[in-house]
Amino acid sequence: MSFELPELPYAYSALEPYIDAKTMEIHLTKHHATYITNLNNAIAGTELENLPIEEILVKGFDKTPVRNNGGGYFNHNLFWEWLSPKSKGKPEGELSAAIDSAFGSFDAFKEEFSKAATGRFGSGWAWLVVKDGKLAIGSTANQDNPLMPGVGISGYPILGLDVWEHAYYLNYQNRRADYIASFFSIVNWDKVAELYAAHK
Ligand code: MN
Repeated sequence: MSFELPELPYAYSALEPYIDAKTMEIHLTKHHATYITNLNNAIAGTELENLPIEEILVKGFDKTPVRNNGGGYFNHNLFWEWLSPKSKGKPEGELSAAIDSAFGSFDAFKEEFSKAATGRFGSGWAWLVVKDGKLAIGSTANQDNPLMPGVGISGYPILGLDVWEHAYYLNYQNRRADYIASFFSIVNWDKVAELYAAHK
């Protein structure tokens, strides 16, 4: 068994003007595809082959190609699903209540998440995770993921933002803060709620 490139649940152009079609196409067919090829090569013939990706991230953590490309594969799988051209703009129901309880308000959550995304030096991700029913915000470097041990934030990632330059440079150049602000117009809160319910 080997991992395969997923199909986007929307067209490359569907997230415009927030993320442009060319960025989406290159991000999926070049960056994500390369992580998958390299992950498959890294685990072929090893004890990690045929394990679920969540287990590979933990058991293969000390192997740099597995850590980098396994994270790259899994993070992007989720990222495509965290985006939607039909965003509701804010969380609802149980998730909304949990965010208010953890951060004070949705606006306060957005501010803290944006700070984590802006403050990540170099390449990485900002995260909203749930662990033992509690929400937390943080960031990781490179393609690390909060399921990996000892990366500074721990829990199941229910929302993540790719802040590698490849995610925004064509349209936003050095303006990462503008990209982060745009992200909140295209978050698939139904997916975030689904992951919260499954992993809280
Ligand atoms: Mn990326």
